[in-house]
Amino acid sequence: MTVDLRISGGTVAIPTGSVTADVLVNDGRIVGIVDPALDTEARRTIDATGRYVLPGMVDVHVHTREPGYEYKDDIRTTSEQAAAGGVTTIFGMPNLKPATTTAALLSDVFEQYAQTSLVDYNHNPAATQSGEIAGMAAQGIRAYKVYMVVDTGRDYPHPAGTGMHDHGDLLRMMDEITKTGLRFIIHPHDQSLMDYIEKQYLDRGENTPQGYAQAYAERNGVIWDTAIDVVLRLAEASGCPVHIAHMQTKRSIDAVRRAKIRGIDVTCEVNHWGPFLSTWDDVERLGPYALSYWVPDEGREAIWEGLRDGTIDICSSDHAPHTREEKEIGWTEMWSCHTGTPGIQYYYPLLLDAVTKGKLTLERVTDLVAFQPAAKFGLESSKGAIEVGRDADLVIANLDSPWTIANDGVLSKTGWTPYDGRTINAAIEHTLVRGEFVLEDSKVVGVAGQARLATPR
Ligand SMILES: [Zn+2]
Repeated sequence: MTVDLRISGGTVAIPTGSVTADVLVNDGRIVGIVDPALDTEARRTIDATGRYVLPGMVDVHVHTREPGYEYKDDIRTTSEQAAAGGVTTIFGMPNLKPATTTAALLSDVFEQYAQTSLVDYNHNPAATQSGEIAGMAAQGIRAYKVYMVVDTGRDYPHPAGTGMHDHGDLLRMMDEITKTGLRFIIHPHDQSLMDYIEKQYLDRGENTPQGYAQAYAERNGVIWDTAIDVVLRLAEASGCPVHIAHMQTKRSIDAVRRAKIRGIDVTCEVNHWGPFLSTWDDVERLGPYALSYWVPDEGREAIWEGLRDGTIDICSSDHAPHTREEKEIGWTEMWSCHTGTPGIQYYYPLLLDAVTKGKLTLERVTDLVAFQPAAKFGLESSKGAIEVGRDADLVIANLDSPWTIANDGVLSKTGWTPYDGRTINAAIEHTLVRGEFVLEDSKVVGVAGQARLATPR
């Protein structure tokens, strides 16, 4: 048999460990993980000697900004950053304009991905209208999303129709989603506590990055912990599979660990800024450009522990680009600043860099970025691992190639990264989606229109 592609001589990360093997690809799928001595004809061979052959990242938390905020980024530019960062599947988020709150709007968004994305995709629509749940599920989504905020009808970041804080509404929605078998992604937040806390900062005139950072972390992260306790209890009460976004406090990581032991179907994620961009020094140095959130040392230690012991299931980027103009205002008016930071281009490399520094094993990293997101979002038959039969969504990386992240390498329209100036050891050289290059020799090469909706087989 002649196969389309042979990736030869690399160290291949399979779910049970790493092996020196050749990976055979045909018709977009992995058809063999074989002894390099095996004689098989291939139409193309890539020499991966001295390189790691890894599963592509399945990033379930990506803000593509399209439709509505294309001046920040769009699906095309997001997918270019994905390709450069070793991400082969993106799941978009619903806080768009219009927000993805109905089955009809979801189908519009899917059409846009089909036309312009370079990497495979799915989308997490907002679950706020019971009558839309079944129609959204029928389109092949893998999860719903809601922001646990009081719906104030804001434009951004939590536009009208994406917020749900009332516990009765949350339980009713969980009951509805349970019927679909899909997962419910929740941005945990206790709005009434935050209203009380942030008023004190604003009354004191601390409308600064430091004030904002401290408000969100106030009293060891009380706004996160109380919200996550509610989510876990309602998940237990409803049986709805839940996924908790941006974990960051020790107490809530402990709570998830205990909930899993009790048998609650909960998964959770850590975003790029958690392990890599959340120190007080980052807040002082980068101000609004570092925020997302400040994670005090105790939380960051708990994050690393959770990443290592599996309490944290998934690393997803929470890629959230904003223009410099939108960030600059934050130095003096942080509560008017758009929060969140771009990250999809660098999260996987940063995690691989952590492998080279002994902070995580390679097996844990591929589990966190690929195997678990695919497994927990129902894509284990098609995505998430280098295994015969799965899609050939592959990354070839050099883990001994120090380079410095710089703003001029950023593929986002916003043109900046909070990691500017950071030197890391891991470089992604090639990214393939279903056997086709979308990054070749560190250059984006994919053709729009070839991406597909990521679904189970
Ligand atoms: Zn987000």
